Amino acid sequence: MSEHSEPELPELPYDYDALEPHISEQVVTWHHDTHHQGYVNGLASAEETLADNREAGDFGSSGGAMRSVTHNGAGHYLHTLFWENMHPNGGGEPEGDLRDRIEEDFGSYEGWKGEFEAAAGAAGGWALLVYDPVAKQLRNVVVDKHDQGALWGSHPILALDVWEHSYYYDYGPDRGSFIDAFFEVVNWDKVADEYQTCLGHFE
Ligand code: MN
Repeated sequence: MSEHSEPELPELPYDYDALEPHISEQVVTWHHDTHHQGYVNGLASAEETLADNREAGDFGSSGGAMRSVTHNGAGHYLHTLFWENMHPNGGGEPEGDLRDRIEEDFGSYEGWKGEFEAAAGAAGGWALLVYDPVAKQLRNVVVDKHDQGALWGSHPILALDVWEHSYYYDYGPDRGSFIDAFFEVVNWDKVADEYQTCLGHFE
């Protein structure tokens, strides 16, 4: 039998106050310790329900539990990427192979960025930059909640959380200012690593 790992809250790759003034220590603390932890707990609990039901041969609550796995699992995975794709020394613009690919697939960096910002304005959950292994291209994707609007098979390489818990305390209803602040802390080195991983898997 293959080993599967229990869901676990990853430690932040920087201090809670490291993203100030763009994202406050208070928001990072609530967001990581309460919200992200909640998705980890929800995933673990739903997996336990599924295992118990298989053991008992009673699948009455399994449908809801599977729905909970995708909601909480997607929340856990996207938050993990979100923390990693920010850094206090981030910002600027992508370089190298990733920059070339963005220009190839979106016409220009500005064309990509304007579209990504539109995704972040429209989403009821997340704006994602993904690698689509079927079309073999990068795409921006609008995601509601954590898992509604996903493009099957695509691999997210940059995630921006636009749930209200992500910005309301710092920016109120001004989501646009939060999106601008996010670009001051994007860890493009990490995004480039994720892109290279996709190339290794899919191209
Ligand atoms: Mn969140």
